[in-house]
Amino acid sequence: MLRLLERLQDEITALDARSLRRRRQIAETACAPEQILTLAGATAPRTMLGFSSNDYLGLAAHPALAEALAEGAARYGTGSGGSHLILGHSRAHAQLEERLGEWMAPHIPDARSLFFCTGYMANLAVLSALGDGEAVIFSETLNHASLIDGARLARARVERYPHCDLQALDAQLAACDAPVKIIVSDAVFSMDGHIAPVAGLLALAEQHDAWLVIDDAHGFGVLGATGRGALQALALRSERLVLIGTLGKAAGVSGAFVAAHRTVIDFLVQRARPYIFTTAAPPAVAHALLTSLALIEGEEGMRRRAQLRARITQLRNGLKQMLPADGSAWLADSPTAIQPLIVGDNARAMQTMERLDAHGLRVGAIRPPTVPAGTARLRIALSASHTEADVARLIGALGEALAEPWPEAA
Ligand SMILES: *Cc1c(COP(=O)(O)O)cnc(C)c1O
Repeated sequence: MLRLLERLQDEITALDARSLRRRRQIAETACAPEQILTLAGATAPRTMLGFSSNDYLGLAAHPALAEALAEGAARYGTGSGGSHLILGHSRAHAQLEERLGEWMAPHIPDARSLFFCTGYMANLAVLSALGDGEAVIFSETLNHASLIDGARLARARVERYPHCDLQALDAQLAACDAPVKIIVSDAVFSMDGHIAPVAGLLALAEQHDAWLVIDDAHGFGVLGATGRGALQALALRSERLVLIGTLGKAAGVSGAFVAAHRTVIDFLVQRARPYIFTTAAPPAVAHALLTSLALIEGEEGMRRRAQLRARITQLRNGLKQMLPADGSAWLADSPTAIQPLIVGDNARAMQTMERLDAHGLRVGAIRPPTVPAGTARLRIALSASHTEADVARLIGALGEALAEPWPEAA
């Protein structure tokens, strides 16, 4: 074998040996709790009940959104034809940005928004543009990979602060005399489900004259009375806030936005390379997102958020009663749709996943490096489209899976 190929193959083999090799499944049908999937290595598809999507409101396969996407394609075609600054910026993109700016106006004075192809790109854009060579970025330890990569791309120095530790962050900010300080945190931690102390972070940002960049990927659509996310839920307002919301999770489509004071947005249009040097998303996507926003803030969104809350309560109450008494598996303290069941060992996480598989259930096993070593977990993600019976099935199957004896560790 070519020497260069051999090096790569060795790494893959090593991952396999440590139960860390990732494999993909193929979805044969639309995103929904019950889905026909072809699992890695399998030849025949199976119908599975899934608890791993980020489609928290169950909008990803909503007929009104499919219809809006088709209508958008009929009106604007499929391709945008260029980047936003050249000719790819359509009326649909402009309408969506205007709408999202209005949504965030109660929380950010003079708010505007900017639409991105993905949340990953929005995070690269914000941190690399604001984090110039004179800046220092204060980054929460459990931040999403896209924020970590954004901080790497920035010319700013990066300091990590301990998870949710406002005191430590306060001391770090006080010791820093950089002219630009940027605090950056997930609003809802994606592998843990709990909510960051955003009000405390904002108080520190005010005290130390810093920006506060909040990634609300898992809060947008879900948190807050009308689904505007963490800022609405926590009733925060400040010119220092730079909010990233993603539109491929609860919003059920694709893309992301940055909302901030108009000067920040004007600056990003000039300086954010992941905005400037890429083809604008299809206008039809922006067109569909306008319908998604209407669903999220309307009666249907209200109903779906209430359903999701009911499923969260059901799962937490049910699991607490059946978890092993020896403490070998425990439920993270999470109020959101993300409900991790921590089992510790990588192989045990994989085995639990396989045992659930035998029941026709799909739950993602999350292992290092996505989570810290020794905290491998099943990341149970609930959706408004899960029924009470779906969640009862998961609780029952998990009870059986965890009660079975484990093979001796290899
Ligand atoms: C999913 C996610 C992103 C990336 O968003 P995409 O639109 O999927 O690229 C960014 N931040 C967090 C916290 C996420 O969970």
